[in-house]
Amino acid sequence: MTRTANGVSEKHGEVSRALWSKMFPEADVSEIPITHITNGVHAPTWIAPVLQDLFENNIGKNWGNLLKNSAEWQTAVNQIPDAELWNAHKLLKNLLVSFIRQRTLKPETGVLETIHEHHDTNKLFDPNVLTIGFARRVAAYKRWNLLVSDLDRLLKMVDDESRPVQFVFAGKAHPQDRSGKLLLQNLMALDHNSQWQRRAVFIEDYDQEVARYLVQGVDVWMNVPRRPMEASGTSGQKAAMNGALNLSILDGWWIEGDNGINGFSIGELADPKDMPQDEIDAKDAESLYRILENDVIPTFYDLDSAGLPVKWITRMRNAIATLTPQFSSDRMVADYFEQIYQLRV
Ligand SMILES: *Cc1c(COP(=O)(O)O)cnc(C)c1O
Repeated sequence: MTRTANGVSEKHGEVSRALWSKMFPEADVSEIPITHITNGVHAPTWIAPVLQDLFENNIGKNWGNLLKNSAEWQTAVNQIPDAELWNAHKLLKNLLVSFIRQRTLKPETGVLETIHEHHDTNKLFDPNVLTIGFARRVAAYKRWNLLVSDLDRLLKMVDDESRPVQFVFAGKAHPQDRSGKLLLQNLMALDHNSQWQRRAVFIEDYDQEVARYLVQGVDVWMNVPRRPMEASGTSGQKAAMNGALNLSILDGWWIEGDNGINGFSIGELADPKDMPQDEIDAKDAESLYRILENDVIPTFYDLDSAGLPVKWITRMRNAIATLTPQFSSDRMVADYFEQIYQLRV
């Protein structure tokens, strides 16, 4: 009964047309009247002030307007010096570490330290270590357990002496979602003999303030939903605008965003027909571990003679250059105006 209907990413439009095809028995699925406008996020809200200063100094006070012209924006972003971009990112990463230490310090806690409560947070998290963020609602399709499906392989990366990895988690389960809460408990109770307790933290009460520290301070933003359940996803867009590299399943907005260097893609675009879900999960977990071991970690720790991870910075810059205009709410609102709200005569 509405004038128009749309999904919030190209994939979501496609999935919605198939879901609603029963209502239009005569029509081919491509003719179902559901289009899509891909979600975007408000750049001035989500880009860290330190980066906004960097844009002002290198691009000009009008950097926000330049987002309307993605070619001009890309040219401008490409001129920001590597060292300046990296220094801004390091500052934000240090802020994140302070935030984490402050949020997880519980002087009154019991004997057992967990990944969400510590009585000494001085050794917790290291601003020089590759930092991966994973924050989202605790819903089954988000697959919180994919990362821990091969614990030995995960802890090997976390415990690596020269090229370690650390994780910051945040999320809320619905109060009545027992399996969701159990999942978080298991995550927090992981192996106490490894560095896991020092290099993984869980931030309680995920909200926009927590989200801001995370998307602005991490190196990598991880997303591993079950295809094609992620209608769009927006947290990865927030992270990309701050130069974090998405490490994501090809679903929702990321199918449109990924260009091969502005992040890392896990698994394939589509699952083999009729493959059982547990086999898909296993296949995606294998892909996730392989990309971490072979691409993400080696690229991050590959430093030039000046101590800069230049290949990583090139990818960061490309993420900011390509994804900020494409997934800004300015682009989204213009699309809604032109394709949905504007009355055609
Ligand atoms: C952006 C945001 C979300 C939505 O992110 P997804 O990518 O859909 O998981 C959820 N919660 C908070 C607090 C956010 O800032």
